[in-house]
Amino acid sequence: MYDYVIVGAGSAGCVLAARLSEDPDVSVLLLEAGPPDVNQNVHVPLGYLSLARTEVDWDYNSAPEPNCDGRRISLPRGKVLGGSSSTNAMIYIRGNRRDYDDWNAPGWSWDDLFPYFLKAEDNERGASEWHAVGGPLPVSDQRSANAISPAFVEAAVEAGLPRNEDFNGAEQDGVGMYQLTQRGGLRASAAVSYLHPAGERPNLTVMPYMHVNRIIFEGKRAVGVEASQLGQAQELRAEREVILCGGAYNSPKLLMLSGVGPAEHLAMREIELLLDQPAVGENLGDHPATYTVFTTPEPESLLLALEPAAMAEFEASQTGPFASNLAESGGFARVGAGAEAPDVQFHFAPIHIVEEGMGDPQAHGVWVSPCLLTAESRGSVRLASNDPTAKPIIRNAFYDAEADMSRMIDAVRLAEEICAQASLEPYCAEPFTVPDDDSDDALRAHIARTTYEIYHPVGTCAIGSVVDSELRVEGLESLRVVDASVMPTVPRGNTNAPTIAVAERAADLIRHGKALAAGELAAQA
Ligand SMILES: Cc1cc2nc3c(=O)[nH]c(=O)nc-3n(C[C@H](O)[C@H](O)[C@H](O)COP(=O)(O)OP(=O)(O)OC[C@H]3O[C@@H](n4cnc5c(N)ncnc54)[C@H](O)[C@@H]3O)c2cc1C
Repeated sequence: MYDYVIVGAGSAGCVLAARLSEDPDVSVLLLEAGPPDVNQNVHVPLGYLSLARTEVDWDYNSAPEPNCDGRRISLPRGKVLGGSSSTNAMIYIRGNRRDYDDWNAPGWSWDDLFPYFLKAEDNERGASEWHAVGGPLPVSDQRSANAISPAFVEAAVEAGLPRNEDFNGAEQDGVGMYQLTQRGGLRASAAVSYLHPAGERPNLTVMPYMHVNRIIFEGKRAVGVEASQLGQAQELRAEREVILCGGAYNSPKLLMLSGVGPAEHLAMREIELLLDQPAVGENLGDHPATYTVFTTPEPESLLLALEPAAMAEFEASQTGPFASNLAESGGFARVGAGAEAPDVQFHFAPIHIVEEGMGDPQAHGVWVSPCLLTAESRGSVRLASNDPTAKPIIRNAFYDAEADMSRMIDAVRLAEEICAQASLEPYCAEPFTVPDDDSDDALRAHIARTTYEIYHPVGTCAIGSVVDSELRVEGLESLRVVDASVMPTVPRGNTNAPTIAVAERAADLIRHGKALAAGELAAQA
């Protein structure tokens, strides 16, 4: 029997486990389906390229996407201590004030969350109006960016975009080098930053390899979970609360396996209904992304990582290609007429991507990837069966809204314009994966061929429809969801820092029954 049972040791779960166990009078159990984070490729930044489809990845795919040539799009998700923060690209972005204000959710506006971004942060640039030091989450400038990455920034400036030294400062628009959740050239996952420092606490128990199958209810009250470890099923009881932190695919999956979801769907899967909740698994939002790839004669790209000197350099000083997060530069732009904030984000990587990233690069090259920040299309997560080990059916429904396709066409045109500028043109010498020509039809075909999911699923247990503004599942007791799934829409940017801020605030809601005022947080710091 524990006070709190937390399901999933990802970005949110690690924050909650660490924050709730600060109170020595409560006991916290953290359950994780994946292994401990002992794989070196989790910690060596560039190593994450080798993690897809291994034991630390859920290895999900979308259902065939009708507007993407019927392709099943790869949907990687971390399955390891640290969750997706152990397998992600480490880019530190908070999003735009407007994102949170537009949620219209009491307690989750930008002004409510900003103090929690600061509470989490330890930025090596120091404290300022926009940044903080002393929090658990290291944020660093790149130690040794590849020589080609700044060329994207220069080219985008030549194309008319503003330069931006800090996407998390006064303005989000513009291009620059990304700051990363790294320290000393190593990945700073939520496990490294929050969980491991709390690991010795006697009131915190962490169980890896523990796959939660369903939530146990007494009436409408969650009292624990049923989980399997090495094929052995067991019940783990929660005195106060069960908290789902399984992420935007697996939290709705667990609710549905436990009888909470759309009644008709659960009946089809022969699951006994506890609560008819049609919104569970609906409203899946994400950032659809596309890319162009060029082969370059300049022998400077991250292909250099294949040379023995690269590993020697990393071992000696944690610099060089292995310290790279791949998507080193990029930025934010507006392509929609009258857009009130950025609607496109660029990720630029000095690497020749083949076979959607699953093949080994054979040549030097560059990859330019625009993604849509404010897509209107919404997908869903549904059960394939009532077997807890079955993969869910995930529909992104990319470009169901025609407006998304036309904005993506504009985004690809902007990407091409940047590639044609003097600073980048030498690296874009030979087209490898590019549109056939510049017509709308050719761009549409290119987008259908190359669209991928840039790893930011949210919305499937949204505040205001599945959970209330304190993240309690509506209609049930002692059950919360705290992870990216509660965000009603996806923020403009990468979603790790926003998930951590949501979890930081949720920890205060759970511990103190209220979020703390900025002054109280400052006093804590
Ligand atoms: C390849 C990739 C690159 C990305 N790049 C970036 C980036 O550069 N910057 C950025 O900000 N964001 C990035 N993201 C997104 C970011 O990492 C996620 O938004 C964030 O980690 C989501 O946190 P979460 O807590 O909601 O879920 P997760 O971190 O995915 O955690 C969920 C955890 O729950 C566990 N779990 C799930 N189901 C069960 C179960 N039934 N039983 C037990 N445990 C379970 C999982 O194994 C996992 O550990 C990336 C993501 C990926 C996959």
